[in-house]
Amino acid sequence: MSKTLLELSGVSVSFDGFKAINSLSFQIGEPELRAIIGPNGAGKTTFMDIITGKTKPDEGHVLWGDKGISLLGMSESAIAREGIGRKFQKPTVFEAQTVRENLAMALKNPRGPFDVLFYKKTKRGAERIEEIAEQTGLTDSLTRPAGELSHGQKQWLEIGMLLAQEPRLLLVDEPAAGMTPAEREKTTEMLVEAARTRAVVVVEHDMEFVRRLNCKVTVLNEGSVLAEGSIDHVTSNPQVIEVYLGR
Ligand code: ADP
Repeated sequence: MSKTLLELSGVSVSFDGFKAINSLSFQIGEPELRAIIGPNGAGKTTFMDIITGKTKPDEGHVLWGDKGISLLGMSESAIAREGIGRKFQKPTVFEAQTVRENLAMALKNPRGPFDVLFYKKTKRGAERIEEIAEQTGLTDSLTRPAGELSHGQKQWLEIGMLLAQEPRLLLVDEPAAGMTPAEREKTTEMLVEAARTRAVVVVEHDMEFVRRLNCKVTVLNEGSVLAEGSIDHVTSNPQVIEVYLGR
């Protein structure tokens, strides 16, 4: 049984009087892999914005870590430093730099540009880059400019860059979008592997992809949790079928 890493309770957010998140409660353990699904407008993006501090709730609590500290008074950068990484849907990598340089720049704890250059030459830095490249299927591409990678490989590089920062919680938005079936399969393995030692939240529309993640699923609808459990459990829930799958 993993211990709770992040807990949202009674969280609400309104935009111009419209409740995008409505008394939402959510918990994730460390380590844990969790999929979040829900129709458009369910509040998935806002949910991630709350965790990363981009959007501040009107009500509720967001507690983090072993001591249950509140993330509410913290800036986005302070929250990132706590070990919360987020991958947006579109990959953003440094196209002119090699894969190795991209990973080196992302490694945890550099204190400035000279440190980055130096760090990748140190044993620990170099080993960590090899490890992450292996984990993200990029070992053979380490010396290639990132701009030459396929869409899927760029997504993996970005996941690798986030892993290089050694987050305790990784939020990943629709990682399988635009990928080939083989790339999806590899992405599944990567996320499952990443979630062996940390919490990983995957927001995804592709139900087949979610099924393959083989993890607990949280269904959001109208800013609240509609159902939670295995993919078979949630997809057999009549309310879920009505609001999401039946469309
Ligand atoms: P999802 O990611 O599940 O599609 P969102 O979190 O983007 O859902 O949006 C939830 C609801 O909140 C939607 O109805 C959306 O239109 C609304 N919303 C989100 N952000 C804003 C905003 N900045 N201003 C006004 N309404 C917003």
